[in-house]
Amino acid sequence: MNDILPEVSGTWRYLESVVRDIVQSYGYSEIRLPLLEYTELFQRSIGEVTDIVEKEMYTFLDRNGESLTLRPEATASVVRAGMTNGLLHNQRQKLWTAGPMFRYEKPQKGRYRQFHQFDVEALGYEGPDVDAELIIMSARLWRKLGISRIELQINSLGVPESRRRYREALVEYFNGVKSQLDDDSIRRLGQNPLRILDSKNPEMQAVVEAAPVMLDYLDEGSQQHFAGLKALLDAAEVEYSINPRLVRGLDYYSRTVFEWVTDALGSQGAVCSGGRYDGLVEKLGGRPTPAIGWAMGIERFVALFDACGGEAPAQHADVYVATVGEGTQERAFALVEELRDSVAGIRVEMNLGGGSFKSQMKRADKSNAQYALILGEQELSDGRIGIKPLRSTEEQESVALHELAATLGDKLN
Ligand code: ATP
Ligand code: MG
Repeated sequence: MNDILPEVSGTWRYLESVVRDIVQSYGYSEIRLPLLEYTELFQRSIGEVTDIVEKEMYTFLDRNGESLTLRPEATASVVRAGMTNGLLHNQRQKLWTAGPMFRYEKPQKGRYRQFHQFDVEALGYEGPDVDAELIIMSARLWRKLGISRIELQINSLGVPESRRRYREALVEYFNGVKSQLDDDSIRRLGQNPLRILDSKNPEMQAVVEAAPVMLDYLDEGSQQHFAGLKALLDAAEVEYSINPRLVRGLDYYSRTVFEWVTDALGSQGAVCSGGRYDGLVEKLGGRPTPAIGWAMGIERFVALFDACGGEAPAQHADVYVATVGEGTQERAFALVEELRDSVAGIRVEMNLGGGSFKSQMKRADKSNAQYALILGEQELSDGRIGIKPLRSTEEQESVALHELAATLGDKLN
């Protein structure tokens, strides 16, 4: 679990604000959810035979003896909240949420025990238009941020009926190569053979490569849905490749699944993953409601932005205010409040804790501000203030206090 320090938090905030603005502009609204839910919610929605439920959840009994879990992902909570608040009755919802998720994983670069997701969910839409919209929206995000080293993979998992037939074919295939399966996979063969395809074990890759693919078992409806999605992506000029091995880690997916992957982050290449989960609402006790969403890992998003040479807008002060002498700081405090009122967005840092002129100038320099404002006793009595450029060869100048806001407004724009 990481501390997110000031030197990187500016990039986080910038990227979070960009993705927030984009999804809001497509008509998605924020929903804020608790970090804790009943354990059963995740067991039922994510599925018992998954990495998350088998070995990654932070689960504990509360004082009342109820089993609670720190959320490992957001979709289950969104659906639970939709149901408990009556948001899904004869209504469609386009929602987003963001925040920390918790998984007891082996920590490594790009994989942490507390990590952060930005999550988008559309409930009540049968698609494939909404599938396309969700993908197009993420493509806009990469474009807007100059993120180029990313690729879209899509697949279809069909519906439960077609998946049952596929499952039989898989079981038959894996039984035939049983001697090559690892322990996890042998166990899953009886319980959930699809999950074998999601194995991260490099020694299993060849066996997985040669397995039958779901796309050959798709039902008519899912075929049409998938064709519809591809046509819409083509029309929107969003490039993709079809990855028949893409099954995604959770049980609840149906039809469309997709993943944005990058080669820029080593083995943790999945940046944004999503899919359709038409059966989940009903499984959790609601009325049948088609639904789809994606989740982006913010840590990987930030790392990818950096790897693509992205830079967040500067977060530092525009001006640093130095005061020397009797009564100058008192006057300066009033002055900077006027500045904050009249120069939109100006970032002003007041020198705090006194200090010699020299040490204040050192702090001014360290603050990365463009200008130091210097108010000494002489300036105070003349009704003027010094503006000293800190990052250019411009001359220092002195302006009347009543002209300060206008002068700075010009200089900073
Ligand atoms: P992976 O295959 O890397 O384990 P996943 O399939 O478990 O990913 P999802 O549950 O789909 O991931 O979560 C969506 C996104 O959240 C991922 O694409 C990734 O960017 C991010 N993510 C998942 N687990 C972690 C983690 N432990 N640390 C950081 N980011 C993560
Ligand atoms: Mg995982």
